[in-house]
Amino acid sequence: MPLPKRQHSHARTARRRAANFKLTLPNVQPCPRCHAPKLAHHVCPDCGFYNNRMVLDVQARRRRQETPEGEAPAQGAAATGE
Ligand SMILES: [Zn+2]
Repeated sequence: MPLPKRQHSHARTARRRAANFKLTLPNVQPCPRCHAPKLAHHVCPDCGFYNNRMVLDVQARRRRQETPEGEAPAQGAAATGE
């Protein structure tokens, strides 16, 4: 039974192991509506559409983020019936 003459260095072991290590990229595809990059089978974060249907009110979310906490948004202008 042959035996290794010398012990491999840690660097050599790490190099061998690193050659088999690979990160997987997320499945990013362009949105069919606005062509912004989005994850497959996910709602588009840019336009809020999924399957040609508005699922997320992105504009309302942006308005909410713009208004500071505790301050009530302007009445009348932000009223949207759903
Ligand atoms: Zn989109």
